[in-house]
Amino acid sequence: MKNIIIFGAPGSGKGTYSDEIVTKYHMGHISTGDVLRAQIKAGTELGKTAQSYIDNGQLLPDELMIDILANAYDQFPAGQGVIFDGFPRTIPQAEALKKMLAERGHDMGMMIELIVGEDVLMQRLLRRAIEQGRADDNEETIKKRFAVYHSQTAPLSDWFAKEGIRHTFSWAELGSKEGMLEAIFKTIDEQA
Ligand code: ATP
Ligand code: MG
Repeated sequence: MKNIIIFGAPGSGKGTYSDEIVTKYHMGHISTGDVLRAQIKAGTELGKTAQSYIDNGQLLPDELMIDILANAYDQFPAGQGVIFDGFPRTIPQAEALKKMLAERGHDMGMMIELIVGEDVLMQRLLRRAIEQGRADDNEETIKKRFAVYHSQTAPLSDWFAKEGIRHTFSWAELGSKEGMLEAIFKTIDEQA
């Protein structure tokens, strides 16, 4: 199985669709946000560092994230296929991912971009704040995360297009979670 990078703004559904893809294709899953939240919960040094960035809606330094990612990747059997959820988020992270995989004789596989309007994203994140109580899901921090997304992460979309691996899925066009999933599965099957 090829690797998959799932890409999109905060609240676009990266975690939700990753879980569906993992179940169907038996892939490994790395959510950098989940890794960091687990470190915070465990009270580690990394967790303390992560908390200050996350609470401010800022990204952690690239070098730190790249180390975390390479470590997590090496926990999976070679060739299983891993879905990267929340990484890369900057162009240096993307360059590092490509290099890290090449060193192992692997490649990035395909990139899935989830396109969702900002009003829908805000509604979802505020609902998630009530359901899951994530500290960074409050209106002020969400706005910072959107700004960080636009300035640091969104430009990566074209980087993936130049790599020839971008596939986009629009919530406005596909209309529902089922519609999104059907289109995503079809694209994965075509690539396999
Ligand atoms: P969602 O999970 O709904 O898509 P999100 O993308 O904002 O929302 P996570 O991916 O869980 O949330 O990330 C939460 C926070 O963890 C980010 O705001 C950032 O502070 C930090 N983080 C996660 N991944 C990275 C990364 N690759 N580089 C830098 N910081 C990261
Ligand atoms: Mg997530």
